[in-house]
Amino acid sequence: MIDIFIEDLNQKFSFNEGITLKDILKNLNGKFKDVVGGKLNGEIIDIHTPINQSGNLKFLKKEDKDSLEILRHSLAHIMAQALKEIYGDENVHLGIGPTTEHGFYYDVEIEGKRLTDEDLPQIEEKMKEIIKKGYQIERFELPREEAIKFFENKKEIYKIDIIKHNIPEGEPISLYKQGDFVDLCRGPHLPSTDKAGAFKLISVSGAYWRGKETNPMLQRIYGVAFWSEKELKDYLNMIEEAKKRDHRKIGKDLELFLIDEEIGGGLAIWLPKGAIIRKEIEDAWKKEHLKRGYQLVYTPHVGKEQLWQTSGHLSFYQENMYPRMQIEEEGYYVKPMNCPFHVEIYKSKQRSYKELPIRLAELGTVYRYERSGALHGLMRVRGFTQDDAHIICREDQVEDEIREVLNLALNTLKSYGFDEFEVYLSTKPEKYVGDDKMWEVAESSLRKAIESTGLDYKIDEGGGAFYGPKIDVKIKDAIGRLWQCSTIQFDFNLPERFDMYYIGEDNQKHRPYMIHRAIFGSIERFIGVLLEHYAGFLPVWLSPVQVKIIPIADKHLEYAETVKQKLLENDIRVELDDRNERMNKKIRDAELQKIPFMLVVGDKEAETGTVAVREKGKQGSQTLSIDEFVSKIKEIISNKHAL
Ligand SMILES: [Zn+2]
Ligand SMILES: [Zn+2]
Repeated sequence: MIDIFIEDLNQKFSFNEGITLKDILKNLNGKFKDVVGGKLNGEIIDIHTPINQSGNLKFLKKEDKDSLEILRHSLAHIMAQALKEIYGDENVHLGIGPTTEHGFYYDVEIEGKRLTDEDLPQIEEKMKEIIKKGYQIERFELPREEAIKFFENKKEIYKIDIIKHNIPEGEPISLYKQGDFVDLCRGPHLPSTDKAGAFKLISVSGAYWRGKETNPMLQRIYGVAFWSEKELKDYLNMIEEAKKRDHRKIGKDLELFLIDEEIGGGLAIWLPKGAIIRKEIEDAWKKEHLKRGYQLVYTPHVGKEQLWQTSGHLSFYQENMYPRMQIEEEGYYVKPMNCPFHVEIYKSKQRSYKELPIRLAELGTVYRYERSGALHGLMRVRGFTQDDAHIICREDQVEDEIREVLNLALNTLKSYGFDEFEVYLSTKPEKYVGDDKMWEVAESSLRKAIESTGLDYKIDEGGGAFYGPKIDVKIKDAIGRLWQCSTIQFDFNLPERFDMYYIGEDNQKHRPYMIHRAIFGSIERFIGVLLEHYAGFLPVWLSPVQVKIIPIADKHLEYAETVKQKLLENDIRVELDDRNERMNKKIRDAELQKIPFMLVVGDKEAETGTVAVREKGKQGSQTLSIDEFVSKIKEIISNKHAL
């Protein structure tokens, strides 16, 4: 017998081992009609899978986000079935069909057919037919040899490969059946095909079996799926909108940065205009950190092998690091993190309890290995700049420090125009280092800090790193996408490994608390997010060119030059368009460059010492004296306004 506590009923039941969610629901006399699956001890299960362990069960309904996993995985099967019906059972060999963040894909081999986007509508139609037919989805198990024989008969060579190489001997081999279609699968699946929601097939591309170039190339068909048509439509609109805002295109059009194969994938070069954006962000960051009692430091880009051994990076982080360099008799590594250097700064002299907290901050560029296929503009690079800081403090300071960091993070992100956040707290995992009391102090300080902000948060129970609990903050951009930015991470590992201590009031050595924290995470990525959030129309304080002066004719150039000088004296970034072009062309070009202000000057302006101001997003123009305009734009800049 097993004991199952059903959260939805707030009641504990005893069942025979091997009972399914389907049986449980039957016992409840159909009281829960809209259940599509469940969550057993945190793991998603479907109504078909035998339950062999006691624990906590929560019913999953459509409104639970986890239920999407079941929907999307079932749609992968429905798509596979459709392909078999269209191209013939014996011609379609199935690879793997997992879920993705917004949908699913299936890798397939189709003899004699290379799919293109034009084939997708027909496949969609067939899928809709299968959904309409409402096949019951059934689960069954086969002994290993029988399962292999079953797939041999169907020429499903990839399924056999999976059984032989991915399913350990002795483990049950489960299959799912809907109509005539049978697939090797662990689940989870819907009760029947007509429970499937709204979907769309998006694209088809090549994918090597098991990602290996020496293996056959299969065809990967991507789909997206949601429970309702509206959610699907919103998502597709968002994707369209995201394409228009692609920071790689904006970066190119506005000449902000350069990522080029000749330099190396994932290695960004900041062009003059992009460098201004970055400088503004970095200046504001430094100013705010100094104000809040951080000390700025600079550390090298490489460090000795021994340092990375002591820090543990060579044992648990090496796959993300670039290979060893030999310099004279020593090995060196390019840094994937700044932490060990900051620890060395702390350790460079004996520290007293009176000196704490010590807050060391650095815009430190780190290098991490990313697969070339995963690189994406500024969002996923191989070299990036962390807005990093390490706080080293006493136990009685932990709570204040964490609250301050979270406050700094949220205020900073708000100053860039983000006002929707998702906050996550990750707590102690099964395997961990450090003593329990320190974990308790750390977790409670994180919790209290979040609660003091009044924000909702999600707890990832047991999801923390082995060396400490953390808070993650995601921001929501203008089209509803979430981006991971801030992290506040305790570390009980490095202080031990580096034997960090301070001399307490009692004249004894004490282990300090250590906190890693970043607000943007990566400056490169954050600028990518900003460009997409604002669709390139950055707030005035960040705009590389804040004002474009447009003389109507050559004879107005001299006055235009006077206006330019006046703006430069006031630290306003200004360009004068002295090309021999028509005024309308100049205005259009300035618009394409997403410049927030244009000052048109002609006879009237030159005579009266004024400028005709055209402001982004506003119709027509407004005539102001030069001084009036200067004070207007200065106020907008100092308030970090977006137009
Ligand atoms: Zn499946
Ligand atoms: Zn760190």
